[in-house]
Amino acid sequence: MSDVKKAIELAKKNNAVMVDLRFCDLPGVWQHTTVPAARLDEGAFEDGFGFDGSSIRGFQPINASDMLLLPDAKTAQMDPFTEQPTIVLICDVVDPITREPYSRNPRYIAQKAESYLRQTGIGDTAYFGPEAEFFVFDDVKFEVANNGGFYELDSIEAAWNTGRHEGPNLGHKIGYKGGYFPCAPNDTLMDWRTETSRMLTAVGIEVELHHHEVATAGQCEIDMRFQSLTHMADQLLWFKNVVKNSARMAGKTATFMPKPLYGDNGSGMHVHQSIWREGKPLFAGDRYAGMSEMALHYIGGILKHAPALCALTNPTVNSYRRLVPGYEAPVNLAYSSRNRSASIRIPMYSTSPKAKRIEVRFPDPSTNPYIAFAAMLMAGLDGIQNKIDPGDPLDKDIYSLSPEELKNVPHVPGSLSEALTALEHDYEFLLKGDVFTRDVIEEWVSYKRAKEVDPIRLRPTPLEFMMYYDV
Ligand code: GLU
Ligand code: MG
Ligand code: MG
Repeated sequence: MSDVKKAIELAKKNNAVMVDLRFCDLPGVWQHTTVPAARLDEGAFEDGFGFDGSSIRGFQPINASDMLLLPDAKTAQMDPFTEQPTIVLICDVVDPITREPYSRNPRYIAQKAESYLRQTGIGDTAYFGPEAEFFVFDDVKFEVANNGGFYELDSIEAAWNTGRHEGPNLGHKIGYKGGYFPCAPNDTLMDWRTETSRMLTAVGIEVELHHHEVATAGQCEIDMRFQSLTHMADQLLWFKNVVKNSARMAGKTATFMPKPLYGDNGSGMHVHQSIWREGKPLFAGDRYAGMSEMALHYIGGILKHAPALCALTNPTVNSYRRLVPGYEAPVNLAYSSRNRSASIRIPMYSTSPKAKRIEVRFPDPSTNPYIAFAAMLMAGLDGIQNKIDPGDPLDKDIYSLSPEELKNVPHVPGSLSEALTALEHDYEFLLKGDVFTRDVIEEWVSYKRAKEVDPIRLRPTPLEFMMYYDV
Protein backbone atom coordinates (compact mmCIF):
# COMPACT_ATOMS: atom_id res chain seq x y z
CA MET A 1 0.00 0.00 0.00
CA SER A 2 1.31 3.48 -0.80
CA ASP A 3 2.15 5.88 2.05
CA VAL A 4 -0.77 8.10 1.00
CA LYS A 5 -3.23 5.19 1.20
CA LYS A 6 -1.75 4.16 4.58
CA ALA A 7 -2.19 7.69 5.97
CA ILE A 8 -5.83 7.82 4.83
CA GLU A 9 -6.39 4.35 6.32
CA LEU A 10 -4.90 5.45 9.64
CA ALA A 11 -7.27 8.43 9.75
CA LYS A 12 -10.27 6.20 8.96
CA LYS A 13 -9.33 3.45 11.40
CA ASN A 14 -9.11 5.98 14.23
CA ASN A 15 -12.25 7.87 13.18
CA ALA A 16 -10.19 11.04 12.79
CA VAL A 17 -12.32 14.15 12.89
CA MET A 18 -9.53 16.57 12.04
CA VAL A 19 -6.18 16.66 10.26
CA ASP A 20 -3.45 18.72 11.89
CA LEU A 21 -0.89 20.02 9.40
CA ARG A 22 2.47 20.79 11.03
CA PHE A 23 5.57 22.58 9.82
CA CYS A 24 8.54 24.30 11.40
CA ASP A 25 9.32 28.02 11.43
CA LEU A 26 12.86 29.28 10.88
CA PRO A 27 13.84 29.46 14.59
CA GLY A 28 12.64 25.85 15.04
CA VAL A 29 9.17 25.79 16.60
CA TRP A 30 6.29 23.70 15.25
CA GLN A 31 3.38 25.63 13.75
CA HIS A 32 0.05 24.12 12.72
CA THR A 33 -3.25 24.57 10.98
CA THR A 34 -6.17 22.16 11.24
CA VAL A 35 -8.62 20.98 8.56
CA PRO A 36 -11.63 18.59 8.69
CA ALA A 37 -10.74 14.97 8.01
CA ALA A 38 -13.21 14.97 5.09
CA ARG A 39 -10.66 17.03 3.16
CA LEU A 40 -8.03 14.28 3.40
CA ASP A 41 -8.20 12.41 0.11
CA GLU A 42 -5.44 11.35 -2.29
CA GLY A 43 -5.71 14.64 -4.18
CA ALA A 44 -4.98 16.64 -1.03
CA PHE A 45 -1.44 15.22 -0.92
CA GLU A 46 -0.86 16.67 -4.43
CA ASP A 47 -2.80 19.91 -4.17
CA GLY A 48 -1.76 20.88 -0.67
CA PHE A 49 -3.35 23.34 1.74
CA GLY A 50 -2.88 27.13 1.65
CA PHE A 51 -1.53 29.17 4.57
CA ASP A 52 -0.31 32.68 5.32
CA GLY A 53 3.48 32.53 5.07
CA SER A 54 3.93 36.10 6.28
CA SER A 55 2.83 35.25 9.82
CA ILE A 56 5.57 32.68 10.30
CA ARG A 57 8.86 33.79 11.89
CA GLY A 58 11.60 34.06 9.27
CA PHE A 59 9.32 33.20 6.32
CA GLN A 60 7.65 35.43 3.68
CA PRO A 61 7.08 39.19 3.41
CA ILE A 62 3.43 40.33 3.59
CA ASN A 63 3.25 41.00 -0.16
CA ALA A 64 4.08 37.38 -1.04
CA SER A 65 2.33 35.65 1.82
CA ASP A 66 0.34 32.86 0.09
CA MET A 67 2.12 29.54 0.47
CA LEU A 68 1.16 25.85 0.30
CA LEU A 69 1.62 23.01 2.77
CA LEU A 70 2.17 19.61 1.17
CA PRO A 71 1.63 16.80 3.70
CA ASP A 72 4.30 14.10 3.81
CA ALA A 73 2.23 10.91 4.04
CA LYS A 74 5.08 8.90 5.64
CA THR A 75 4.85 11.07 8.76
CA ALA A 76 1.20 10.28 9.62
CA GLN A 77 0.55 9.73 13.36
CA MET A 78 -2.48 10.13 15.62
CA ASP A 79 -2.14 13.01 18.11
CA PRO A 80 -2.19 11.54 21.64
CA PHE A 81 -3.36 14.81 23.23
CA THR A 82 -6.42 16.06 21.35
CA GLU A 83 -9.92 15.41 22.67
CA GLN A 84 -11.26 14.63 19.20
CA PRO A 85 -9.28 12.04 17.17
CA THR A 86 -6.81 14.04 15.08
CA ILE A 87 -4.27 12.79 12.56
CA VAL A 88 -1.01 14.74 12.37
CA LEU A 89 0.90 15.15 9.11
CA ILE A 90 4.26 16.89 8.89
CA CYS A 91 4.32 19.07 5.77
CA ASP A 92 6.71 20.43 3.20
CA VAL A 93 6.25 24.02 2.06
CA VAL A 94 5.97 25.00 -1.62
CA ASP A 95 5.28 28.12 -3.65
CA PRO A 96 1.67 27.92 -4.93
CA ILE A 97 2.53 29.31 -8.39
CA THR A 98 5.83 27.65 -9.26
CA ARG A 99 5.36 24.59 -6.97
CA GLU A 100 9.06 25.02 -6.11
CA PRO A 101 10.04 23.87 -2.59
CA TYR A 102 10.43 26.91 -0.32
CA SER A 103 14.10 27.67 0.27
CA ARG A 104 13.54 28.98 3.82
CA ASN A 105 11.67 25.86 4.93
CA PRO A 106 14.05 24.21 7.44
CA ARG A 107 12.80 20.72 6.52
CA TYR A 108 13.82 21.33 2.90
CA ILE A 109 17.33 22.30 4.05
CA ALA A 110 17.58 18.98 5.91
CA GLN A 111 16.37 17.06 2.83
CA LYS A 112 18.92 18.86 0.64
CA ALA A 113 21.73 18.01 3.09
CA GLU A 114 20.81 14.33 2.78
CA SER A 115 20.82 14.49 -1.03
CA TYR A 116 24.14 16.35 -0.98
CA LEU A 117 25.66 13.53 1.08
CA ARG A 118 24.57 11.05 -1.61
CA GLN A 119 25.85 13.31 -4.42
CA THR A 120 29.33 13.43 -2.87
CA GLY A 121 29.48 9.62 -2.98
CA ILE A 122 30.92 9.65 0.56
CA GLY A 123 27.93 7.82 1.97
CA ASP A 124 24.22 7.29 1.49
CA THR A 125 22.89 7.81 5.02
CA ALA A 126 23.80 10.08 7.92
CA TYR A 127 22.42 8.91 11.25
CA PHE A 128 21.63 11.35 14.03
CA GLY A 129 20.90 10.62 17.68
CA PRO A 130 20.17 13.76 19.74
CA GLU A 131 19.87 13.65 23.54
CA ALA A 132 17.63 16.62 24.27
CA GLU A 133 17.73 17.33 28.01
CA PHE A 134 15.01 19.42 29.63
CA PHE A 135 13.63 20.60 32.97
CA VAL A 136 10.22 19.82 34.41
CA PHE A 137 9.02 22.41 36.91
CA ASP A 138 5.92 22.44 39.09
CA ASP A 139 5.42 26.08 38.34
CA VAL A 140 7.44 28.96 37.05
CA LYS A 141 7.61 32.23 38.90
CA PHE A 142 8.98 35.06 36.87
CA GLU A 143 9.70 37.00 40.02
CA VAL A 144 12.71 38.56 38.43
CA ALA A 145 10.46 41.24 37.07
CA ASN A 146 8.95 42.51 40.30
CA ASN A 147 11.11 41.97 43.37
CA GLY A 148 14.43 43.26 42.07
CA GLY A 149 16.10 39.98 43.10
CA PHE A 150 17.82 37.64 40.74
CA TYR A 151 15.42 34.78 40.00
CA GLU A 152 14.26 35.15 43.59
CA LEU A 153 17.07 32.71 44.53
CA ASP A 154 20.70 33.39 44.02
CA SER A 155 21.68 29.79 44.09
CA ILE A 156 20.14 26.39 43.90
CA GLU A 157 21.62 25.64 47.31
CA ALA A 158 19.40 28.35 48.74
CA ALA A 159 16.36 26.63 47.27
CA TRP A 160 17.44 23.31 48.70
CA ASN A 161 18.24 24.67 52.15
CA THR A 162 14.96 26.47 52.50
CA GLY A 163 12.98 23.62 50.98
CA ARG A 164 11.25 26.12 48.73
CA HIS A 165 9.24 24.67 45.80
CA GLU A 166 9.12 21.24 47.41
CA GLY A 167 6.15 21.27 49.77
CA PRO A 168 6.48 19.51 53.11
CA ASN A 169 9.86 18.07 54.05
CA LEU A 170 9.47 14.32 53.71
CA GLY A 171 13.18 13.70 54.10
CA HIS A 172 13.90 12.51 50.59
CA LYS A 173 15.32 15.73 49.26
CA ILE A 174 17.78 15.67 46.45
CA GLY A 175 20.98 17.45 47.41
CA TYR A 176 22.67 20.11 45.35
CA LYS A 177 23.41 18.45 41.98
CA GLY A 178 22.33 15.13 43.43
CA GLY A 179 19.64 14.37 40.88
CA TYR A 180 21.68 11.83 38.96
CA PHE A 181 20.89 8.72 39.73
CA PRO A 182 19.18 8.08 43.11
CA CYS A 183 16.02 5.98 42.88
CA ALA A 184 12.51 6.99 43.94
CA PRO A 185 11.38 8.51 46.24
CA ASN A 186 14.26 10.91 45.58
CA ASP A 187 13.52 10.72 41.88
CA THR A 188 9.95 11.98 41.82
CA LEU A 189 9.63 12.05 38.04
CA MET A 190 10.20 8.39 37.19
CA ASP A 191 6.52 7.60 36.59
CA TRP A 192 6.08 10.80 34.60
CA ARG A 193 9.03 9.88 32.34
CA THR A 194 7.64 6.36 31.87
CA GLU A 195 4.24 7.75 30.93
CA THR A 196 5.89 10.25 28.56
CA SER A 197 7.95 7.46 27.00
CA ARG A 198 4.74 5.55 26.31
CA MET A 199 3.31 8.58 24.54
CA LEU A 200 6.49 8.93 22.50
CA THR A 201 6.18 5.29 21.46
CA ALA A 202 2.57 5.97 20.48
CA VAL A 203 3.71 8.57 17.95
CA GLY A 204 6.22 6.16 16.39
CA ILE A 205 9.36 7.03 18.36
CA GLU A 206 11.64 4.25 19.58
CA VAL A 207 12.65 5.13 23.14
CA GLU A 208 15.97 3.71 24.37
CA LEU A 209 16.05 4.85 28.00
CA HIS A 210 15.09 7.59 30.42
CA HIS A 211 16.74 8.98 33.52
CA HIS A 212 16.95 11.96 35.81
CA GLU A 213 19.78 14.33 34.83
CA VAL A 214 22.53 15.86 36.93
CA ALA A 215 20.83 19.13 37.89
CA THR A 216 19.43 19.29 41.40
CA ALA A 217 15.78 18.62 40.69
CA GLY A 218 13.53 18.29 37.71
CA GLN A 219 16.10 17.78 34.96
CA CYS A 220 15.29 14.81 32.74
CA GLU A 221 16.56 12.96 29.73
CA ILE A 222 14.64 10.53 27.51
CA ASP A 223 16.71 9.12 24.66
CA MET A 224 15.50 8.04 21.24
CA ARG A 225 17.08 5.46 18.97
CA PHE A 226 19.04 7.09 16.12
CA GLN A 227 17.42 7.78 12.74
CA SER A 228 18.40 9.36 9.43
CA LEU A 229 18.71 13.16 9.43
CA THR A 230 15.31 14.53 8.33
CA HIS A 231 13.43 11.69 10.01
CA MET A 232 15.19 12.48 13.30
CA ALA A 233 14.53 16.22 13.01
CA ASP A 234 10.81 15.42 12.49
CA GLN A 235 10.96 13.18 15.55
CA LEU A 236 12.67 15.80 17.67
CA LEU A 237 9.78 18.19 17.09
CA TRP A 238 7.36 15.43 18.08
CA PHE A 239 9.58 14.78 21.11
CA LYS A 240 9.38 18.37 22.33
CA ASN A 241 5.65 18.46 21.67
CA VAL A 242 5.00 15.25 23.62
CA VAL A 243 7.24 16.29 26.54
CA LYS A 244 5.56 19.69 26.87
CA ASN A 245 2.04 18.33 26.55
CA SER A 246 2.69 15.43 28.88
CA ALA A 247 4.03 17.87 31.50
CA ARG A 248 0.97 20.08 31.05
CA MET A 249 -1.33 17.07 31.53
CA ALA A 250 0.45 16.33 34.81
CA GLY A 251 -0.04 19.94 35.97
CA LYS A 252 3.64 20.68 35.40
CA THR A 253 5.62 22.58 32.79
CA ALA A 254 8.63 21.49 30.73
CA THR A 255 11.30 23.70 29.20
CA PHE A 256 14.12 23.06 26.76
CA MET A 257 15.76 26.41 27.40
CA PRO A 258 19.47 25.68 27.75
CA LYS A 259 20.19 27.31 31.11
CA PRO A 260 17.09 28.03 33.19
CA LEU A 261 18.89 27.96 36.55
CA TYR A 262 21.96 29.86 37.62
CA GLY A 263 24.53 27.71 39.41
CA ASP A 264 23.35 24.30 38.19
CA ASN A 265 23.70 22.18 35.06
CA GLY A 266 22.05 23.39 31.90
CA SER A 267 20.26 21.34 29.26
CA GLY A 268 22.38 20.23 26.35
CA MET A 269 21.50 18.32 23.24
CA HIS A 270 24.46 16.10 22.51
CA VAL A 271 24.17 14.86 18.94
CA HIS A 272 25.53 11.41 18.01
CA GLN A 273 26.40 11.17 14.32
CA SER A 274 27.75 8.63 11.85
CA ILE A 275 27.84 8.08 8.09
CA TRP A 276 26.96 4.80 6.43
CA ARG A 277 27.11 3.43 2.87
CA GLU A 278 25.18 0.39 1.65
CA GLY A 279 24.48 -0.69 5.21
CA LYS A 280 28.14 -0.38 6.29
CA PRO A 281 29.28 1.94 9.09
CA LEU A 282 32.05 4.20 7.79
CA PHE A 283 33.16 5.73 11.10
CA ALA A 284 34.65 2.46 12.47
CA GLY A 285 38.35 1.79 11.84
CA ASP A 286 41.73 1.27 13.42
CA ARG A 287 42.63 4.84 14.33
CA TYR A 288 42.20 6.65 17.69
CA ALA A 289 39.33 5.20 19.77
CA GLY A 290 38.44 2.70 17.03
CA MET A 291 37.59 5.39 14.51
CA SER A 292 38.25 5.49 10.78
CA GLU A 293 40.25 8.21 9.08
CA MET A 294 36.92 9.45 7.67
CA ALA A 295 35.53 9.91 11.19
CA LEU A 296 38.65 11.85 12.23
CA HIS A 297 38.29 14.16 9.22
CA TYR A 298 34.59 14.62 10.02
CA ILE A 299 35.64 15.70 13.52
CA GLY A 300 38.23 18.01 11.93
CA GLY A 301 35.43 19.70 9.93
CA ILE A 302 33.15 20.11 12.94
CA LEU A 303 35.95 21.57 15.08
CA LYS A 304 37.12 23.90 12.33
CA HIS A 305 33.64 25.32 11.71
CA ALA A 306 32.44 25.09 15.34
CA PRO A 307 32.35 28.85 16.07
CA ALA A 308 30.10 29.38 13.01
CA LEU A 309 28.09 26.23 13.74
CA CYS A 310 27.31 27.50 17.24
CA ALA A 311 25.19 30.27 15.68
CA LEU A 312 22.95 27.44 14.42
CA THR A 313 23.38 24.73 17.08
CA ASN A 314 23.34 27.12 20.10
CA PRO A 315 21.14 29.82 18.65
CA THR A 316 19.74 31.66 21.67
CA VAL A 317 21.23 34.28 23.98
CA ASN A 318 20.55 31.84 26.82
CA SER A 319 22.63 29.12 25.06
CA TYR A 320 25.86 30.84 26.12
CA ARG A 321 25.02 30.83 29.82
CA ARG A 322 25.29 27.02 29.54
CA LEU A 323 28.68 26.88 27.75
CA VAL A 324 30.77 27.60 30.86
CA PRO A 325 33.18 25.32 32.77
CA GLY A 326 32.03 22.99 35.52
CA TYR A 327 28.63 21.76 34.34
CA GLU A 328 29.50 18.99 31.83
CA ALA A 329 28.88 21.37 28.95
CA PRO A 330 31.92 21.86 26.74
CA VAL A 331 33.86 25.07 26.48
CA ASN A 332 36.95 24.03 24.55
CA LEU A 333 36.99 22.79 21.00
CA ALA A 334 38.74 19.47 21.44
CA TYR A 335 37.86 15.79 21.03
CA SER A 336 38.46 12.82 23.25
CA SER A 337 37.11 9.35 23.96
CA ARG A 338 34.86 8.94 27.01
CA ASN A 339 35.53 12.55 28.10
CA ARG A 340 32.51 14.70 28.97
CA SER A 341 34.49 17.94 29.19
CA ALA A 342 35.42 17.78 25.47
CA SER A 343 33.31 19.25 22.66
CA ILE A 344 33.39 15.94 20.84
CA ARG A 345 33.34 12.68 22.74
CA ILE A 346 33.84 9.25 21.20
CA PRO A 347 31.50 7.02 23.21
CA MET A 348 33.19 3.73 24.16
CA TYR A 349 30.21 1.79 25.50
CA SER A 350 30.49 -0.80 22.73
CA THR A 351 33.25 -2.17 20.55
CA SER A 352 30.88 -3.03 17.70
CA PRO A 353 31.69 -1.15 14.45
CA LYS A 354 27.96 -0.49 14.05
CA ALA A 355 27.96 1.50 17.30
CA LYS A 356 30.90 3.67 16.26
CA ARG A 357 29.85 7.28 16.21
CA ILE A 358 30.92 10.67 17.41
CA GLU A 359 29.00 12.70 20.00
CA VAL A 360 29.05 16.45 19.44
CA ARG A 361 28.36 17.98 22.86
CA PHE A 362 28.07 21.72 22.35
CA PRO A 363 24.56 21.87 20.74
CA ASP A 364 21.53 22.54 22.91
CA PRO A 365 17.81 21.88 22.51
CA SER A 366 16.88 25.50 21.71
CA THR A 367 18.07 24.81 18.18
CA ASN A 368 16.10 24.14 15.01
CA PRO A 369 16.94 20.43 14.51
CA TYR A 370 16.63 20.49 10.70
CA ILE A 371 19.10 23.34 10.48
CA ALA A 372 21.47 22.14 13.21
CA PHE A 373 21.77 18.57 11.86
CA ALA A 374 22.16 19.78 8.26
CA ALA A 375 24.85 22.29 9.29
CA MET A 376 26.84 19.72 11.29
CA LEU A 377 26.69 17.25 8.40
CA MET A 378 27.95 19.95 6.02
CA ALA A 379 30.83 20.81 8.37
CA GLY A 380 31.75 17.13 8.73
CA LEU A 381 31.59 16.56 4.97
CA ASP A 382 33.81 19.59 4.44
CA GLY A 383 36.27 17.95 6.83
CA ILE A 384 36.18 14.69 4.85
CA GLN A 385 36.48 16.41 1.45
CA ASN A 386 39.43 18.55 2.58
CA LYS A 387 40.99 15.91 4.84
CA ILE A 388 40.93 18.34 7.77
CA ASP A 389 43.21 17.09 10.57
CA PRO A 390 41.45 17.33 13.96
CA GLY A 391 44.81 17.51 15.77
CA ASP A 392 45.60 15.38 18.81
CA PRO A 393 42.89 14.25 21.21
CA LEU A 394 42.77 15.92 24.61
CA ASP A 395 42.34 13.07 27.07
CA LYS A 396 42.26 15.18 30.22
CA ASP A 397 39.68 16.87 32.41
CA ILE A 398 39.66 20.07 30.40
CA TYR A 399 37.99 22.06 33.18
CA SER A 400 41.03 21.51 35.40
CA LEU A 401 43.62 22.70 32.87
CA SER A 402 45.48 25.95 33.55
CA PRO A 403 45.21 28.93 31.18
CA GLU A 404 48.78 28.09 30.12
CA GLU A 405 47.78 24.52 29.16
CA LEU A 406 44.72 25.80 27.31
CA LYS A 407 46.66 28.47 25.45
CA ASN A 408 46.43 26.72 22.10
CA VAL A 409 43.04 25.07 22.52
CA PRO A 410 40.30 27.07 20.75
CA HIS A 411 36.98 27.59 22.53
CA VAL A 412 33.31 28.05 21.72
CA PRO A 413 32.04 31.63 21.23
CA GLY A 414 31.19 33.51 24.43
CA SER A 415 27.87 34.90 23.21
CA LEU A 416 25.27 34.56 20.48
CA SER A 417 26.50 37.80 18.99
CA GLU A 418 30.06 36.39 18.69
CA ALA A 419 28.72 33.18 17.15
CA LEU A 420 26.68 35.13 14.57
CA THR A 421 29.79 37.10 13.62
CA ALA A 422 31.68 33.81 13.22
CA LEU A 423 28.89 32.55 10.94
CA GLU A 424 29.04 35.74 8.85
CA HIS A 425 32.73 35.00 8.27
CA ASP A 426 32.43 31.26 7.67
CA TYR A 427 29.43 29.91 5.77
CA GLU A 428 30.76 28.81 2.35
CA PHE A 429 30.76 25.17 3.55
CA LEU A 430 26.99 25.44 4.10
CA LEU A 431 26.29 26.67 0.56
CA LYS A 432 27.72 23.58 -1.18
CA GLY A 433 25.09 21.73 -3.20
CA ASP A 434 22.73 24.69 -2.49
CA VAL A 435 21.90 23.07 0.84
CA PHE A 436 21.76 26.45 2.58
CA THR A 437 21.11 29.55 0.50
CA ARG A 438 22.85 32.85 1.25
CA ASP A 439 19.36 34.26 1.85
CA VAL A 440 18.69 31.78 4.68
CA ILE A 441 21.99 32.62 6.40
CA GLU A 442 21.34 36.37 6.07
CA GLU A 443 17.78 36.05 7.36
CA TRP A 444 18.98 33.90 10.29
CA VAL A 445 21.66 36.40 11.31
CA SER A 446 19.45 39.47 10.99
CA TYR A 447 16.48 37.79 12.73
CA LYS A 448 18.65 36.65 15.65
CA ARG A 449 20.31 40.06 16.08
CA ALA A 450 17.10 42.09 15.81
CA LYS A 451 14.72 39.82 17.70
CA GLU A 452 16.93 38.20 20.32
CA VAL A 453 20.41 39.71 20.81
CA ASP A 454 19.37 43.37 20.85
CA PRO A 455 16.16 43.09 22.92
CA ILE A 456 18.15 41.38 25.69
CA ARG A 457 21.28 43.50 25.31
CA LEU A 458 19.38 46.76 25.52
CA ARG A 459 17.41 46.03 28.70
CA PRO A 460 18.83 46.57 32.19
CA THR A 461 18.34 43.39 34.25
CA PRO A 462 17.31 43.07 37.93
CA LEU A 463 20.83 41.92 38.80
CA GLU A 464 22.21 45.15 37.37
CA PHE A 465 19.95 47.07 39.72
CA MET A 466 21.30 45.04 42.64
CA MET A 467 24.88 45.66 41.59
CA TYR A 468 24.82 49.21 40.33
CA TYR A 469 21.89 51.06 41.87
CA ASP A 470 24.07 52.36 44.63
CA VAL A 471 27.21 53.15 42.64
N1 GLU B 1 23.66 18.69 31.08
C1 GLU B 1 24.98 18.59 30.51
C2 GLU B 1 25.11 19.59 29.35
O1 GLU B 1 24.73 20.68 29.51
C3 GLU B 1 25.31 17.20 30.05
C4 GLU B 1 25.16 16.07 31.02
C5 GLU B 1 25.49 14.72 30.35
O2 GLU B 1 26.67 14.41 30.15
O3 GLU B 1 24.57 14.03 29.96
O4 GLU B 1 25.61 19.34 28.31
MG1 MG C 1 22.72 10.90 27.80
MG1 MG D 1 22.57 13.89 29.48
